[in-house]
Amino acid sequence: MGNPLRERRSAAEWSAGSQVIEIAEKVSDFEQLAGIIEADLAALDADKIPAAWRDAVVSGQLEFGYADAQRTLPTVRCQVEVTVDAVCQRCLEAFRLPLETEADLLLLAPEQDADGYDDYEVWELEDKLLQPQAIVEEMLIMALPFAAMHTESSACKALTPGTAASDEEMTTPFAALREQMAQDNEGSA
Ligand SMILES: [Zn+2]
Repeated sequence: MGNPLRERRSAAEWSAGSQVIEIAEKVSDFEQLAGIIEADLAALDADKIPAAWRDAVVSGQLEFGYADAQRTLPTVRCQVEVTVDAVCQRCLEAFRLPLETEADLLLLAPEQDADGYDDYEVWELEDKLLQPQAIVEEMLIMALPFAAMHTESSACKALTPGTAASDEEMTTPFAALREQMAQDNEGSA
């Protein structure tokens, strides 16, 4: 049997059997996502690019069903996570960025409407056949932050006082802002 993520069936067909698909992939299985990560990592010197970034494990689950008792509105609950390699926009160093996302999607054909189903996000079916992989990939891409940054200040060179960042022009404004915020916090503590 092939990988169900890459099979193409109609949304009704996926939901008819209340299919559950376990996701066990790698970043390299998602062409667009891998392209974005590769472009991001290209900001690093070649020897600083993490060697195994394409092998990061993508895991999670897709669970198909219906929103209505009449079974006319197919749905899929998607939960997916991966820890990708990214470049911190503050200190311009590589770091591990955990992504975790979940959504309840209403799989809508162009002629259908979603009135009364506000608990769902709408996934518009552009083709008759749906490849579950496309949903997983888009969810991961949407989960990417606008600007990836170390969240722990102890890990970020730009946030550690007295440490020179690799690119002064890029990082000095952030570092200055951070210092100012830290002072404000101390003042209120
Ligand atoms: Zn950083």
